[in-house]
Amino acid sequence: MRRRWPQVPARQWNDWRWQLAHQVRGASELDRFVHLTQDERLACSEKDPAFGWAISPYYASLIDPDDPTDPVRRQAIPTGAELVPHPEESADPLAEDEHSPVKAITHRYPDRAVLYATGTCAMYCRHCNRRRKVGSPASSPSGAELKAALTYLRAHSEIRDVIVSGGDPLSLPDARLIALLSDLRAVPHLEIVRIATRYPATLPQRITGTLASRLRALAPLYVNTQFNHLKECTPEAARALDRLADAGCVLGNQMVLLRGINEDPQMVKAMNRWLLLHRCRPYYIFQCDPALGTAHFRTPIESGLEILRALIGWTSGLAVPHYVVDLPGGGGKVPLVPEYLISHQGHSWMFRNYAGRQFTYVEGAPAKRR
Ligand SMILES: *Cc1c(COP(=O)(O)O)cnc(C)c1O
Ligand code: SF4
Repeated sequence: MRRRWPQVPARQWNDWRWQLAHQVRGASELDRFVHLTQDERLACSEKDPAFGWAISPYYASLIDPDDPTDPVRRQAIPTGAELVPHPEESADPLAEDEHSPVKAITHRYPDRAVLYATGTCAMYCRHCNRRRKVGSPASSPSGAELKAALTYLRAHSEIRDVIVSGGDPLSLPDARLIALLSDLRAVPHLEIVRIATRYPATLPQRITGTLASRLRALAPLYVNTQFNHLKECTPEAARALDRLADAGCVLGNQMVLLRGINEDPQMVKAMNRWLLLHRCRPYYIFQCDPALGTAHFRTPIESGLEILRALIGWTSGLAVPHYVVDLPGGGGKVPLVPEYLISHQGHSWMFRNYAGRQFTYVEGAPAKRR
């Protein structure tokens, strides 16, 4: 509800720097435009640094002020449930800090690595699996640490794909972001440079025409974003995706499956169709990681499978992402697919199709020589 900031001229509202400088950070400020529950108000005043929160005015404007179950609101406003740890949880559920040869890098897979460019974001997602380290000044790598990360990447020619993440790399000013991406581009074995950012969903005004044209010069760039709900799919978000796609970026979406927020297969189908309209391919649905204080966000695995069953066959294959569990302890991502195979015997395989009808496929056996 933009009308909650009526005094702000459009020129400022549409300026991402204004938005970042005016992030909502206090319970009393939030109280002015959201009718906070007692639980939310208490949680917003919590001093634990692992609990930090801030919301861009743009993202806050999408919040339903009267509905504590609103999907945007639940992603942005803390609740007391975050203070309740569960035995399966840990601060670093994916053991990213263990697989970290230098501070700003996680290198887990054979041919790709993650680079942490900054620890700040436009909005601190309550479900964030890096909540242990985003939001605090100490979480952003120093110049020396970034330099060490580049040195590591240059020295490891088996890495051909680097994911620039954070925090959110688009929190960096253009000049620093472009300098970093250019340094990566200059490493011959880094064939793929990806940017992982939530800005198209949480502060789409960040994707200025100037930024887009600077990114164009660094093509090919892959940009993975995180839309979790149709409510985030606004005209501003559409413009951000269109600008990135026009600049030649290859867009993908990484949705995090969240209890009571996006467990709805029909909503996910509609969101994925909207993403495709804006040239963003649904890439992953993540099972929510067991980060400390996120049990209230985690769904049964069955919810993810149910979403896939509602997508596969029923809509464009382009709108069907991989559903993955990132294995706690650093096992990496594994895909989950609904079961379509009923049985197989010899060369004969019996399947159930997307609509539940049965079909048999017989493998071609090589002809026997006489
Ligand atoms: C997810 C992830 C990647 C990228 O995985 P893809 O399946 O290639 O998208 C790379 N490194 C780490 C540590 C990751 O968690
Ligand atoms: S934008 Fe990404 S890094 Fe930042 S809080 Fe959200 S999930 Fe975490």
